[in-house]
Amino acid sequence: MDSSLSSPPILVLVIPCYNEEEVLPETIKRLTTIFDNLIEKNKIAYTSKILFVDDGSRDRTWEIIEENNKTNTFVHGLKLAKNAGHQNALLAGLNHAKEFSDCVISIDADLQDDLNVIEEFIEKFKEGYDVVYGVRKSRSTDTFFKRSTAQGFYRLMNSMGVNVVYNHADYRLMSKRVLHHLSEFREVNLFLRGLIPLIGFKSTEVYYDRNERFAGESKYPLKKMLAFAFDGITSFSVTPIRLISGIGFLMFLFSFVIAIYILVNKFIGNTTSGWSSLMISIWFIGGLQLVALGLIGEYIGKIYKEVKARPKYIIEKNTVHLSQKNKQTE
Ligand code: UDP
Ligand code: MG
Repeated sequence: MDSSLSSPPILVLVIPCYNEEEVLPETIKRLTTIFDNLIEKNKIAYTSKILFVDDGSRDRTWEIIEENNKTNTFVHGLKLAKNAGHQNALLAGLNHAKEFSDCVISIDADLQDDLNVIEEFIEKFKEGYDVVYGVRKSRSTDTFFKRSTAQGFYRLMNSMGVNVVYNHADYRLMSKRVLHHLSEFREVNLFLRGLIPLIGFKSTEVYYDRNERFAGESKYPLKKMLAFAFDGITSFSVTPIRLISGIGFLMFLFSFVIAIYILVNKFIGNTTSGWSSLMISIWFIGGLQLVALGLIGEYIGKIYKEVKARPKYIIEKNTVHLSQKNKQTE
């Protein structure tokens, strides 16, 4: 860990907000109390900040942020020119915050996540963890529908080989160096929950209870939720493409079985003329086409990976310093 961290770390909370005028005053009030308390206990630096990212809200969200910025030294804001979506708003905040923080915690504006575990996040950071995932103890406050779809989603992701932390949303602490590496991932379709585990470094989990939304409505209606899940899967896995090749191959094999069945029928005189050749062709060509489509898909999948240009590895420690290298060449 950084030697500079013997003094309390500078913490920046990053909070994306979309039409959150109803909860924002309360969120600011509660966070200010938490910050005052943590500073008093010498857990975080007094220069720590709360960075709100206004994701193109159409209500008074930005006005509330600006007003509070004048009177509250913790409160700062970024205003996006238009609604860019939760993940992009979050990334904007993270990219900005890494310039003036030791660690960052991302959290939603609606006070659903338990603010009291922030202290535990910081403790873990001081113990040397670069990523601390906030994990929900239970999903009892969710509707049956949200609970079962979420569970199905995690299962599907894991079965496709994507590493996501179960029951963890975007409430997490990240060290400055994790944020630095995150900015090396230049993909347009962002799914931070999948990217952070991909970066690596030492990580741990902290468990908490999630409450109901303090006020206002969810900004994630079913349509957005499905789009998010679909984005998550297609950004991380080529399994859907493989599925096409697989089905095609099975169909292709099956066409031989069908051919035998049809020919037997033909020889016992059980068919109308033209039917046998037509059926065999349909199954054979259908299977062949799907195999070909899957094959093209494989190449597109490869191109997709290349285009994303994700870092191939991330170095955690290095004992060779520039001055040593210079000495050797002298
Ligand atoms: N949010 C955002 N941009 C959007 C949608 C949501 O910045 O386009 C923010 C929102 O203000 C909140 C967080 O993302 O702070 C999570 O949204 P929400 O609480 O509505 O989602 P839910 O908890 O219902 O899944
Ligand atoms: Mg919420």
